[in-house]
Amino acid sequence: MKSISFIIPAYNESANIAPLYEKLQSVLEPLRDRYMFEILFVNDGSEDTTAKEIRKIVNQDTRVKLIDFSRNFGKEIATTAGLHHCTGDACMMLDADLQHPAELIPDFITKWEEGFDVIIGIREESKSDTWIKRVGGKIFYSILNKISDTEIIPNATDFRLLDRAVIDEFNRFTETKRLTRGLIDWLGFKRAYIHFKANDRLHGTATYSVWKLTKLALHSFMSLSLFPLKMAGYIGILITTLSLLSGTYIFLGKYFFKWYWALTFSDSEDLAIFIVFLVGIILMSIGLISLYIANIHEEVIKRPLYVIRKNRSIQ
Ligand code: UDP
Ligand code: MG
Repeated sequence: MKSISFIIPAYNESANIAPLYEKLQSVLEPLRDRYMFEILFVNDGSEDTTAKEIRKIVNQDTRVKLIDFSRNFGKEIATTAGLHHCTGDACMMLDADLQHPAELIPDFITKWEEGFDVIIGIREESKSDTWIKRVGGKIFYSILNKISDTEIIPNATDFRLLDRAVIDEFNRFTETKRLTRGLIDWLGFKRAYIHFKANDRLHGTATYSVWKLTKLALHSFMSLSLFPLKMAGYIGILITTLSLLSGTYIFLGKYFFKWYWALTFSDSEDLAIFIVFLVGIILMSIGLISLYIANIHEEVIKRPLYVIRKNRSIQ
């Protein structure tokens, strides 16, 4: 019998734990004779009674487990811990606040049985989002897709099912700052998409503030693309070329075609062009240095060199 693990990161979700567990039970009950289940709660250093609520369930149901963080490490790390510790042939990541509709879980499993390795929940826009989150999200994805080598689908969420092959590859990542879904997208594999409408949060408020999201966005730009790093170099090349052209023009006009072009440039204007030219050279050098830094960055995070799609029919 195949087994499926559920990974649920929870930060200050005390009021949501019991309803979520009940919902999961009702969805999983009809599948019981075909699959084994494991429900892995990751308590991300909650300040409320989340851990206590989870322990209550752990004591009743042997399929439920708790990973209890010593402090708040953030959702990305919490899901990573879940992926490290889950034992299933596949895992399904799910938010604790019931925004991800559990009733779609059988659809994810069906896709998995059809042979897809990564099944991604795509969230339809919800009215409860503030306009700043909506507009910010649009800008974020359009920039990211322009500058990054990995294709990232807008509104893709962490509501995902991963095959064991993907989990094992994911667990080879060593970088400490991470965006879980970005890394999963980087891995590739055979993907399928399921659209869903996010429910409203059952209890509590979303802890991902605009500021936290902005930080995460900046970090994703950095980790998924070298473009920001190379930008200084590109600007340098542009400035150097332009100032070199205009400098040459002025120089020729002043000393060689004096009578013909009748150019009048003061000495301080000459100097200005010269300084701009030097600034261009400096920026270009910074760009060059950043290429080396980019190399170091890549070596240090030690991404796997390649990822093999395990052939399930061999084994
Ligand atoms: N979460 C977490 N650690 C954090 C913040 C959030 O584990 O530091 C969990 C939270 O309990 C929830 C999920 O991540 O299960 C999504 O968080 P939230 O609902 O606040 O964000 P949003 O719905 O806006 O993505
Ligand atoms: Mg939420």
